[in-house]
Amino acid sequence: MAYSAPSDGGRSIVYTERIGRVKYTYYDDGVVKITRYKGKKKIYWGRITVAMCMFMMLTLGVGQLGKSLTKAVKGSRTKIEMNNSMPEFVMNGSDAQPQAVASETSGEDDVRAEAETGTHYSNMNIRVCIDPGHGDYDTGTVAGDGIVEADQNLEISLLIRDYLESCGVMVSMTRESDVSVSLSDRCSIANENGCDFFVSMHRNSVSDTSADYSGIEAWVNNKAPAYDTALAQNILTALDEVGVTDDHGVKYGYRDMPGNNYQVNMDTVMPSCLLELGFVTSEQDNELFLNQKEQYAEAIGNAIIQTAIQLGVISESGERLLSGQLISDGKNNVYITDAYAKSGEINYITGFNNTESNTDR
Ligand SMILES: [Zn+2]
Repeated sequence: MAYSAPSDGGRSIVYTERIGRVKYTYYDDGVVKITRYKGKKKIYWGRITVAMCMFMMLTLGVGQLGKSLTKAVKGSRTKIEMNNSMPEFVMNGSDAQPQAVASETSGEDDVRAEAETGTHYSNMNIRVCIDPGHGDYDTGTVAGDGIVEADQNLEISLLIRDYLESCGVMVSMTRESDVSVSLSDRCSIANENGCDFFVSMHRNSVSDTSADYSGIEAWVNNKAPAYDTALAQNILTALDEVGVTDDHGVKYGYRDMPGNNYQVNMDTVMPSCLLELGFVTSEQDNELFLNQKEQYAEAIGNAIIQTAIQLGVISESGERLLSGQLISDGKNNVYITDAYAKSGEINYITGFNNTESNTDR
C-alpha cells in the first residue's frame, strides 16, 4: 500500500549520514531529523560475554605467568578484544552493564544464535494461515532498486511457514509460488481449512521516497476485535525486539478510510491482521529485512503461538484446549453484501482512487 502524500512540507534532503544506529537527515531548511534504530540489545550480550570471559581468564587464569607478565599480556590482549566488541556496544547506546557471566565460551555466533532463538516451541496444536500478499501480475510495489514486494512477501512467508512447522504448527499457505490468488480465495483457504489465525504479509511503500517513511505497522478489522488486536500487537512487539526502524502500531480499518476494511480482515472468520513489514522504499528497512528476515520470521511465528496460548487455544505445552476453530470474537462481516456474495468481488469501497493501495485489499 502507499501513503498518498509526503509529510515533510516540501523540504528536501540535502544530506544523510548514518553513524552507528543513528541516521541524521539534513534538510535544506536547516532541520536535522534524527532516526534512531531500535536494536535488540541482547544481541550484543554474546560479544560482551566473550570479552568479559577473555578479561577474566586473562586476569584470573593466567596468574602462573607472573604478575608483570600477566599485566603485559592483559594490556595487549584486552585491547584486541576491545577492538572487536566495544565499538558496537558504544554505538548501540546500550545501557547494559557487563555482568559476570562465566560459562559461555563457545563462541560469539553460538551465543548470538541462542539469544535470538529464544523459546522454540514444539507440538503446538494450532493451524495458521500465512498469506503472502500479491503475486504474479500483481507485483505489489516495485521499488526503484528492483525490489518486488510480492517476491519479498513470499520469501518471508515461506520462512514463517518453515519456522511454524518446526514448532509443530499446521500451516495453510494461500500461495507458495509466484501465482495469482484472489482475495476471496485467500480468505476461503483460511476459513475452510479451519485456521485459528490469519496473517497477511506485505511490505509498505510511499510514493515520494524523499518523505523518508520507515517502520512496521499492522492492520486489523475496524471493529477492533480483541483477539485480532492481540495477534497484531504481539507480532509488532516481537518484531520490535528483533529490531525495526519504527513501530507505527496497530491500525484499524483501511488506510485513509477507517470505515472500510482490507478484505482479508473482513472475510476471514478467525483473528487476522495484515502486516506491513517495513517499507520497500526505505533503504534502512530493506537492509533490516535483508539481514534479519529469519529472525523476523521466527518472531512472527512465536508471536502467533504466544497469542494462541494467551487466548486459551492451546496450553503452554501445545495441548489443544479449544475444541473447534478459533473464531474472532467481535469481527462481524458487516460489509459482505448480497452483491458481493454473488459476484465474488468486493464493491464496498467507493470513490477510492489510489490504485497502488487498492492492491492490498
Ligand atoms: Zn502489499
